[in-house]
Amino acid sequence: MNQTTSTAQAPGDRVGPGGLDPSLLIACPTCDALQLDRPVPAGARARCHRCGTILMAPREGAMTRIVMLAATALVLMVAAVFFPFLELSAGGMVRRSSLLDAVLAFSSGLLLPLTFAVAALIIVLPVLRLASILYALAPMALGWHRARHGVAAFRLAEALRPWAMAEIFIVGVAVALVKVAGLARLGIGPAFWTFAALVLVTVLNDTYMCRLTVWKTLEERRRP
Ligand SMILES: [Zn+2]
Repeated sequence: MNQTTSTAQAPGDRVGPGGLDPSLLIACPTCDALQLDRPVPAGARARCHRCGTILMAPREGAMTRIVMLAATALVLMVAAVFFPFLELSAGGMVRRSSLLDAVLAFSSGLLLPLTFAVAALIIVLPVLRLASILYALAPMALGWHRARHGVAAFRLAEALRPWAMAEIFIVGVAVALVKVAGLARLGIGPAFWTFAALVLVTVLNDTYMCRLTVWKTLEERRRP
């Protein structure tokens, strides 16, 4: 559709007697349309010829940037879990809670499964995802061969993407704050801002990451 930026084209111009070599084709992640896999120069974008989804957008130094952002997010996560998140004061009583307190608040009786779900979705899965990204991409950012289980680690990171819901949590907290604001005086602790920064860094990281380029680099940097 977008002729000015499109470098991937519809199959059809290279169909030989034996058909197309499947290794020359890539599928659009949105509409599954097949297109020829052409080299895309850094800074350019390849769009799907049918729906316009960006297929590849390689950038100079992107690998290093992704690794740095993932490392930053991991450090922010540690701070976000242990520093005070919120401070509630009502009737002369003050209560500070950290993210860990919030998670453990459901740790009795019937609500116990909720503890595991909340801990998994806002802490464990995001940390696991960041660690997998670091493991898969850090050796390649340094120009080394890929890590021994680099492909499996990146596949895991991609599978976890919809389940690492830190940003949903921050929206939930914002809604809860509006509700509670009338009942008690609220103070926002350092962990709240750390967590907000963490969400921002994660979103930036996902925007920077060109998945097809990562897969290709993983393939190229195979151990001999
Ligand atoms: Zn498409």
